Amino acid sequence: RQPIVAIDGPAGAGKSTVTRVVAQQLGLLYLDTGAMYRAVTWLVLQSGIALDDESAIAELVSQCQIKFVENQQNESSPQILINDYDVTQAIRSMEVTAQVSAIAALHSVRTELVRQQQNIGKKGGIVAEGRDIGTNVFPDAELKIFLTASVQERARRRLLELQKQGQENVTLEQLENLIQERDMSDSNRTFAPLRKAIDAVEIQTDNLSIVEVTNQIISLYKQ
Ligand code: C5P
Repeated sequence: RQPIVAIDGPAGAGKSTVTRVVAQQLGLLYLDTGAMYRAVTWLVLQSGIALDDESAIAELVSQCQIKFVENQQNESSPQILINDYDVTQAIRSMEVTAQVSAIAALHSVRTELVRQQQNIGKKGGIVAEGRDIGTNVFPDAELKIFLTASVQERARRRLLELQKQGQENVTLEQLENLIQERDMSDSNRTFAPLRKAIDAVEIQTDNLSIVEVTNQIISLYKQ
């Protein structure tokens, strides 16, 4: 198979932007596994199923179809469809963000999505981002990166992003709390918690630009 690059790390460490640029520069496919957990969370919220009804959620997820399609306007950022609904925008809502860690902690949800991710990556040629790519989804990836940044820096970046989208109704402190809560639940869950793989290279990005981070990853890839 073709090579696989795994990029893991906590929320807001810059994974999405970095992964997209690395994939584009290396001519590999970009796989955003967080978007898959978000899409499933959106589906569960839409369906009205209780969030603690694991067997109904398992049933819904086992029948769902997730597709990434090329975005005509922006080819490095694919659109995501679940059961043919375009949820590219909807999965970024505060509501989905608030619930996604709980849904992603369910064993049945992870089993199904990991199966779909491994299927997408079976021929390699991808750069995948998430929380458990290097440890669980593609443990034999050629290059594993663990991206981190302080909570303060991650909240600051999120705030700038939200301000750009015209969402100004949230404070830095609220974002720090939300990020910390998500870190806690992603790191403390039972199945495939957020961990740095032992053979991953950790990059602390507080004082690095996107270009510096991507250049570092690309040179590691070419070594
Ligand atoms: O990366 P993003 O913030 O979009 O991920 C949303 C959520 O999906 C994470 O907070 C985590 O709960 C879950 N996730 C996961 N495993 C992955 C990717 C995301 O559990 N590989």
